[in-house]
Amino acid sequence: MEVKRGEIFSRTLSGRCPNCGHFGIFQSWFRLRKQCPECEMELEKEESGFYFGTTSVGYVLAILLVIVPVCILVVMDVLGMWAGIAIAIIGSILLCVLLYPLMLCWVIMLYYIVQAEELPKNRTDTQA
Ligand SMILES: [Zn+2]
Repeated sequence: MEVKRGEIFSRTLSGRCPNCGHFGIFQSWFRLRKQCPECEMELEKEESGFYFGTTSVGYVLAILLVIVPVCILVVMDVLGMWAGIAIAIIGSILLCVLLYPLMLCWVIMLYYIVQAEELPKNRTDTQA
Protein backbone atom coordinates (compact mmCIF):
# COMPACT_ATOMS: atom_id res chain seq x y z
CA MET A 1 0.00 0.00 0.00
CA GLU A 2 1.34 3.39 -0.98
CA VAL A 3 -0.47 5.38 1.70
CA LYS A 4 0.02 3.88 5.14
CA ARG A 5 -2.60 4.02 7.86
CA GLY A 6 -0.36 6.29 9.93
CA GLU A 7 -0.28 8.78 7.06
CA ILE A 8 -4.06 8.64 6.68
CA PHE A 9 -4.31 9.33 10.40
CA SER A 10 -2.00 12.35 10.43
CA ARG A 11 -3.36 13.79 7.18
CA THR A 12 -7.03 13.66 8.05
CA LEU A 13 -6.40 14.76 11.63
CA SER A 14 -4.98 18.01 10.25
CA GLY A 15 -7.85 18.40 7.76
CA ARG A 16 -5.99 17.28 4.65
CA CYS A 17 -6.82 14.89 1.83
CA PRO A 18 -6.21 11.30 2.96
CA ASN A 19 -5.05 10.37 -0.52
CA CYS A 20 -2.47 13.05 -1.38
CA GLY A 21 -2.10 15.10 1.82
CA HIS A 22 -3.11 18.45 0.33
CA PHE A 23 -5.19 21.03 2.13
CA GLY A 24 -8.45 22.24 0.66
CA ILE A 25 -10.89 19.33 0.88
CA PHE A 26 -13.35 21.62 2.66
CA GLN A 27 -15.69 23.77 0.62
CA SER A 28 -17.05 25.46 3.72
CA TRP A 29 -17.18 24.86 7.46
CA PHE A 30 -19.87 22.19 6.98
CA ARG A 31 -19.23 20.87 3.50
CA LEU A 32 -16.60 18.88 1.72
CA ARG A 33 -15.66 19.55 -1.88
CA LYS A 34 -16.91 17.04 -4.44
CA GLN A 35 -13.34 16.01 -5.03
CA CYS A 36 -9.86 16.86 -3.83
CA PRO A 37 -8.53 19.89 -5.80
CA GLU A 38 -5.10 18.25 -6.03
CA CYS A 39 -5.52 14.52 -6.73
CA GLU A 40 -9.22 14.61 -7.73
CA MET A 41 -10.11 11.84 -5.35
CA GLU A 42 -13.88 11.77 -5.05
CA LEU A 43 -15.08 12.91 -1.67
CA GLU A 44 -18.73 12.95 -2.61
CA LYS A 45 -19.17 9.21 -2.99
CA GLU A 46 -19.41 8.57 0.73
CA GLU A 47 -20.63 12.06 1.53
CA SER A 48 -23.97 11.16 3.10
CA GLY A 49 -22.26 8.53 5.22
CA PHE A 50 -19.65 11.02 6.36
CA TYR A 51 -22.23 13.62 7.34
CA PHE A 52 -24.41 11.06 9.07
CA GLY A 53 -21.41 9.77 11.02
CA THR A 54 -20.35 13.28 11.92
CA THR A 55 -23.80 14.13 13.29
CA SER A 56 -23.73 10.97 15.39
CA VAL A 57 -20.29 11.83 16.76
CA GLY A 58 -21.63 15.31 17.54
CA TYR A 59 -24.54 13.90 19.55
CA VAL A 60 -22.28 11.62 21.55
CA LEU A 61 -19.79 14.43 22.27
CA ALA A 62 -22.59 16.82 23.22
CA ILE A 63 -24.00 14.28 25.68
CA LEU A 64 -20.61 13.48 27.20
CA LEU A 65 -19.12 16.97 27.30
CA VAL A 66 -22.18 19.17 27.84
CA ILE A 67 -25.34 17.40 28.93
CA VAL A 68 -23.88 15.01 31.51
CA PRO A 69 -21.75 17.70 33.26
CA VAL A 70 -24.73 20.10 33.26
CA CYS A 71 -27.00 17.42 34.75
CA ILE A 72 -24.44 16.78 37.49
CA LEU A 73 -24.26 20.51 38.26
CA VAL A 74 -28.06 20.74 38.38
CA VAL A 75 -28.29 17.69 40.67
CA MET A 76 -25.60 19.19 42.92
CA ASP A 77 -27.61 22.46 43.05
CA VAL A 78 -24.75 24.41 41.51
CA LEU A 79 -27.01 25.34 38.59
CA GLY A 80 -30.72 26.03 38.52
CA MET A 81 -32.78 23.69 36.35
CA TRP A 82 -33.66 26.30 33.70
CA ALA A 83 -30.12 27.67 33.60
CA GLY A 84 -28.94 24.07 33.17
CA ILE A 85 -31.38 23.45 30.32
CA ALA A 86 -30.35 26.70 28.58
CA ILE A 87 -26.63 25.92 28.95
CA ALA A 88 -27.17 22.35 27.75
CA ILE A 89 -29.02 23.47 24.61
CA ILE A 90 -26.69 26.35 23.73
CA GLY A 91 -23.60 24.36 24.69
CA SER A 92 -24.61 21.36 22.55
CA ILE A 93 -25.29 23.52 19.51
CA LEU A 94 -22.04 25.47 19.92
CA LEU A 95 -20.05 22.30 20.39
CA CYS A 96 -21.47 20.68 17.25
CA VAL A 97 -21.01 23.83 15.15
CA LEU A 98 -17.50 24.63 16.34
CA LEU A 99 -16.18 21.08 16.17
CA TYR A 100 -17.98 20.07 12.97
CA PRO A 101 -14.99 20.15 10.59
CA LEU A 102 -12.87 18.36 13.18
CA MET A 103 -15.49 15.64 13.65
CA LEU A 104 -15.91 15.34 9.89
CA CYS A 105 -12.16 14.71 9.67
CA TRP A 106 -12.40 12.02 12.35
CA VAL A 107 -15.16 10.23 10.46
CA ILE A 108 -13.19 10.38 7.19
CA MET A 109 -10.11 9.21 9.07
CA LEU A 110 -11.92 6.21 10.57
CA TYR A 111 -13.45 5.30 7.23
CA TYR A 112 -10.14 5.27 5.37
CA ILE A 113 -8.14 3.69 8.18
CA VAL A 114 -10.60 0.80 8.22
CA GLN A 115 -10.62 0.63 4.42
CA ALA A 116 -7.18 1.94 3.50
CA GLU A 117 -7.34 0.04 0.19
CA GLU A 118 -10.24 2.27 -0.87
CA LEU A 119 -7.90 5.21 -1.44
CA PRO A 120 -7.19 5.82 -5.16
CA LYS A 121 -3.45 5.69 -4.55
CA ASN A 122 -3.77 2.33 -2.85
CA ARG A 123 -6.23 0.87 -5.31
CA THR A 124 -3.77 0.64 -8.21
CA ASP A 125 -1.26 -1.13 -6.00
CA THR A 126 -0.61 -4.81 -6.69
CA GLN A 127 -1.98 -6.92 -3.88
CA ALA A 128 0.71 -8.50 -1.77
ZN1 LIG B 1 -6.02 14.67 -2.65
